[in-house]
Amino acid sequence: MKGSQRQAEVTRRAVKHYGKVNQLHVAIEELSELQKALCKDLRGIGDRNAIAEEIADVEIMLDQLKQIYHNYTKVETWKAGKINRLEYRMNRDKG
Ligand SMILES: [Mg+2]
Repeated sequence: MKGSQRQAEVTRRAVKHYGKVNQLHVAIEELSELQKALCKDLRGIGDRNAIAEEIADVEIMLDQLKQIYHNYTKVETWKAGKINRLEYRMNRDKG
């Protein structure tokens, strides 16, 4: 099984095993932990390894949120549109 397939399978199992409500709480907690790590970095007491760990936690929970809300394709569509808009604005600002 490829790495990405395994990740998707474990994500599916986690939502089933722990339940939607619990995983929504965990997602909120993980987002908060990343916020805290970034705030510490801005205060000059950041820990690059801690930031990497919290980004990983959040990415894992984002995968579970997409599983919970069955909106992987919709998220990808939003992302593509927002990336296009970002690129457009940067190109426009360049003049
Ligand atoms: Mg964490």
